[in-house]
Amino acid sequence: MTNSNENTYLVVGGGIGGLATVLSLANSGRRVKVLEQAPEFGEVGAGIQLAANATNVLQHLGVMDKISEIAVFPKRLVLMDAYTGNELAALDIGETYRERYGAPYVVLHRSDLQRILLEACEEHPNVDLYTNQKIVETVQDDDTVTATSANGEVHTGKALIGADGLWSTTRQLFSDDQPECSEYVAYRGAIPIEEVTNIGNLDDVYMWIGPNLHVVQYPVRKGELYNQVVVFKSSQYKKEIEKTDEWGTPEEMDEVFAKTCDKVQTAISYISRQKRWPMYDRKPIDNWTDGRITLTGDAAHPMLQYLAQGACQALEDAPYLANMLDKHNDDVEKAFRAFQEERLPRTADVQTSARQWGEIIHAVDDTSILLRNTVLANHTVNDFQFIDKYHGYKKLTNKVEA
Ligand SMILES: Cc1cc2nc3c(=O)[nH]c(=O)nc-3n(C[C@H](O)[C@H](O)[C@H](O)COP(=O)(O)OP(=O)(O)OC[C@H]3O[C@@H](n4cnc5c(N)ncnc54)[C@H](O)[C@@H]3O)c2cc1C
Repeated sequence: MTNSNENTYLVVGGGIGGLATVLSLANSGRRVKVLEQAPEFGEVGAGIQLAANATNVLQHLGVMDKISEIAVFPKRLVLMDAYTGNELAALDIGETYRERYGAPYVVLHRSDLQRILLEACEEHPNVDLYTNQKIVETVQDDDTVTATSANGEVHTGKALIGADGLWSTTRQLFSDDQPECSEYVAYRGAIPIEEVTNIGNLDDVYMWIGPNLHVVQYPVRKGELYNQVVVFKSSQYKKEIEKTDEWGTPEEMDEVFAKTCDKVQTAISYISRQKRWPMYDRKPIDNWTDGRITLTGDAAHPMLQYLAQGACQALEDAPYLANMLDKHNDDVEKAFRAFQEERLPRTADVQTSARQWGEIIHAVDDTSILLRNTVLANHTVNDFQFIDKYHGYKKLTNKVEA
């Protein structure tokens, strides 16, 4: 079957980044076709933190009211020592934060975010959604791009945006790089709030840190569920077994966290052991655009989750891309170049900073830990200098400067 429309934008991948891109393009009057490989659009059963640079975009996309109905608006981001149980530093992410950045910090269930973006796409007259479309080949000529799926369906459009995530097929057009394994694994999940005890203040987002490990906790879905992410570096990791489940096992998790404080031990006792997520990123590349094809979200700039900025950066991409198309009157080659010119250096910086922040929170040697904790002890709750450049970004269009 051939689906051809030369004025249509093809978006490969219907994750958070892909759907936000679709909505941005559709809201600005463009026809968009979403090609998702899975039989259904969906997200993992865990939470996500969205800083002001992301909620600013969600406001721009017109979905923030729905997000607000289901999200939690935490008041503090708190760094805790996973062994002593002591508070190391806290940051106000309540009213002062909202006034500073013009948008709130929210935490919510990924499936709630995905559903709200998906519903907005489904209701949009400019959007066509296709599932079971694993795109295996993408080719372009002077006027069109053609994407072919594994089941033989062919989709032709004016341009193509690869929003196909960390393992992106579209990225292979620009780079032969591979995702790099960090040797860390995550276990995560959200459980009914009434089933958890020995947790902290429900207005706080907690990050418990220690050598080679951390745990993140916060409520989601209006406070009905409690989300937890448990992360550690596996000493069992070896390149030969990277693609197996033989490293970073639940048994290793128990050993690694055995001497942590009570509250962290409780977190471990609640965490789902069914599925483990090995943590990957890639180094920044210097080009992700060629003619009528570009990348967005994790396909373009996958990063470790330590700054909670991966989806935020994917969301930032979306309106900027639409605005470059506006600015260049849908001359896609010029618009995609302009998009990359702004977005590549910014996201490369966040990718690199995420790795560095990982080194800091997971510090192992005594001197680094002492230095870090001393700096943190001098940090005040309203000192936003560390996050200004991430959370304060407002360059959604070529008209609004940060
Ligand atoms: C443990 C963990 C915690 C995190 N926490 C946060 C956080 O708190 N805040 C934050 O901002 N970020 C966080 N992130 C990062 C965030 O999850 C990602 O950056 C974000 O989900 C990327 O969205 P995306 O749409 O670009 O890619 P994805 O979500 O990976 O979506 C890609 C989509 O493309 C589809 N696809 C793939 N290949 C093809 C193909 N060939 N054809 C068609 N479809 C295809 C996939 O099925 C999928 O639907 C975290 C990540 C992890 C691992």
